[in-house]
Amino acid sequence: MTDIIDGNAVAEDVRAGLTDAIDALDEAGVTPGLATVLMSEDPASQTYVSMKQRDCEEVGIDAFDYELDPDAPAEELYELIDDLNEDDSVHGVLVQMPLPDHVDEREVLRRIDPAKDVDGFHPENVGRLVAGNPRFKPCTPHGVQKLLDATEVDTEGKDVVVVGRSNIVGKPMANLLIQKAEGGNATVTVCHSRTDDVAAKTKQADVVIAACGVPELVTGEMLSEGVVVVDVGINRVDADNEKGYELVGDVEYDSAEEKASAITPVPGGVGPMTRAMLLWNTVKSAGDAADVDVNL
Ligand code: NDP
Repeated sequence: MTDIIDGNAVAEDVRAGLTDAIDALDEAGVTPGLATVLMSEDPASQTYVSMKQRDCEEVGIDAFDYELDPDAPAEELYELIDDLNEDDSVHGVLVQMPLPDHVDEREVLRRIDPAKDVDGFHPENVGRLVAGNPRFKPCTPHGVQKLLDATEVDTEGKDVVVVGRSNIVGKPMANLLIQKAEGGNATVTVCHSRTDDVAAKTKQADVVIAACGVPELVTGEMLSEGVVVVDVGINRVDADNEKGYELVGDVEYDSAEEKASAITPVPGGVGPMTRAMLLWNTVKSAGDAADVDVNL
């Protein structure tokens, strides 16, 4: 029997676990606040931002919503970030990517106060993560760690293959897994588009984490019996339905499920965890700012 890992249920547990922290902050007169900045007309980005705002409201985090015209000068965005950095009611600043071409993404990441960088992408926070002293763990890899933990998959001593080496998923995922810490202690192989034979690596793995952005790249044939499969991918592919598309992961679910002892579905696996961990980081940030022990 394959264990289908229910990301919605684990995310709900994470949100419920934030209640005590939010209550402790409330007693200290603090309401955590997350500012989202959207500078895009991309429907997927708009959906992500509105979901994040709704999530905040549900758990008692103030959501501050900023929208900039995609044609606005980059300076307007930089100045908004400066203002949010100064605003004591804002504990997290999230600028939705991708940004228009005329905006320097790296400048945006550097500009956000590292203490409010709830995505965990500021160079200072990346450095802290690599050094084993994370301030904010990036939401998607942190969510994967939580999912594995909730599924009672102990990564210690395991061979884990991460397919993908992006700055937002693959690299921080690999970094978390090699930490000498709970949820780490794995032996990690990172594959990318220049990897000679991805299947040879994934076949050796106890755990495969697919984050390559290629629909259904990882198939059952590439896996060994009993493997744990975490599918980070979210890809829109054309479909003959009302929307005209459906979501598929980076794993070919049916063939992988036949091999796996546990597997995450798409949707309903990693996606809800990414959203939950953003709330977690925002609450943690508010606790740090107010010097309230929120125990996260
Ligand atoms: P990127 O496109 O930034 O990175 C993809 C990575 O996969 C790159 O490192 C690339 O290699 C590697 N890759 C591409 N093709 C292959 C291949 N054929 N074999 C091996 N490696 C390959 O994607 P992201 O990291 O941003 O996202 C990955 C996936 O996760 C996407 O489907 C995205 O939609 C999804 N996602 C889901 C989230 C969630 O909450 N569930 C959150 C964020 C992302 P190279 O570096 O050589 O180009």
